[in-house]
Amino acid sequence: MAHPGNPGVLALQGDWREHLATLADLGVDGVAVRTPEELEKVGSLILPGGESTTISLLLETSGLLPGLRDRLAAGMPAFGTCAGMILLATEVTDGRPDQHHLDAMDVVVRRNAFGRQVDSFEADLDVSGVEGGPVHAVFIRAPVVESAGDGVEVLAKATTPDGVTRPVVCRQGRVLVASFHPELSGEHRLHQLFLDQAA
Ligand code: GLN
Repeated sequence: MAHPGNPGVLALQGDWREHLATLADLGVDGVAVRTPEELEKVGSLILPGGESTTISLLLETSGLLPGLRDRLAAGMPAFGTCAGMILLATEVTDGRPDQHHLDAMDVVVRRNAFGRQVDSFEADLDVSGVEGGPVHAVFIRAPVVESAGDGVEVLAKATTPDGVTRPVVCRQGRVLVASFHPELSGEHRLHQLFLDQAA
């Protein structure tokens, strides 16, 4: 079935409003998605930052989980930031054993790899495919990619407290993930990249 609709933003928990505002700044009407019916109408989906364990639970109680899995398996473009990146992974380390992963990108993601809330930090990162200078990245209890499958392109890396440099922006097909929150720093270029690749 074709899904020609507008981009959706999963609006169960987290900073979904900031994603809708970023889309609006780009002249795009994003749609808040909270129900299976709303998911059916969107053409792509942004999964926001927040708390992946909470969003995982709410995906169950809202009834969204089966339809979301189906849409992603059918190739719906998706963009996950921070908690959204955790949710899109095939495997999560340091997660709750019962938290769902949506298997949309072939990556192993470690939660809270940069430390706790107090260890939040900002950095300027070069992101491959993003022109016009470095991307200002806000990391809040951010995850990192520990390993990525062959089909995954690494677009940016950052160094975790153990001194190892690991992927923090990745793309596989029309799925994009970032460890940080472009939606919180007035950064629009990753959303534009997502919209371009979703088109
Ligand atoms: N550490 C959070 C989690 O596990 C993600 C934090 C964030 O989205 N800023 O879901």
